[in-house]
Amino acid sequence: MSTTPAAAALPAGLTVVSGPTAVGKGTVVARLRQEHPEVMVSVSATTRPPRPGEVEGVHYHFVAADEFDELAAAGGLLEWAVVHGRHRYGTPRAPVEAAVAAGRRVLLEIDLQGARQVRDSWPHAQFVFLAPPTWEELVRRLVGRGTETEEERARRLDTARQELASVSEFDSVVVNHEVEQAVGDLVALLGRGNMARPDE
Ligand code: 5GP
Repeated sequence: MSTTPAAAALPAGLTVVSGPTAVGKGTVVARLRQEHPEVMVSVSATTRPPRPGEVEGVHYHFVAADEFDELAAAGGLLEWAVVHGRHRYGTPRAPVEAAVAAGRRVLLEIDLQGARQVRDSWPHAQFVFLAPPTWEELVRRLVGRGTETEEERARRLDTARQELASVSEFDSVVVNHEVEQAVGDLVALLGRGNMARPDE
């Protein structure tokens, strides 16, 4: 039985958006959310401390390391990973499964390691890579936002290099030249729904 809400403009299913640090994932996803409130954007759990302005339950569920480990051990996370060699981040399983079952489009904004895990458990999900126009522009955006120390920036750029090399693992690439254009491209992909794979 389908329970797709009447207001839903985008088809039900799961979309994973990954991309390097500072590419603008947060901004693009926030704008998408404004335009398509029917899309459920998963709120991750993390052991990272909140940045100024970040709100518990909105940007992340900020949890202690032992709480995170208990959740993971109990199977409560759809995927999880240590990101940038430091903090743990994971997708709470229950809200995602419930929303997809209720006919909603669900979006996960997670790293490459997490995307690979989701690929194993949800092979029909849609995998989108958000890419910067150039490497120089990515560095400029990271330096410009000024939220990381020099050491943390170097670590994030290291991860970014590896992530950019893995772009071919994704179904689609959206280049974030500019927010409106990137959101438009992403919405067009979401509108196509999940990938139909010839071998499944
Ligand atoms: P930030 O610390 O800048 O908020 O996020 C760092 C990275 O963690 C981003 O690349 C983001 O995609 C990733 N991330 C956020 N939530 C999750 C999650 O639930 N799982 C995984 N695997 N990565 C996540």
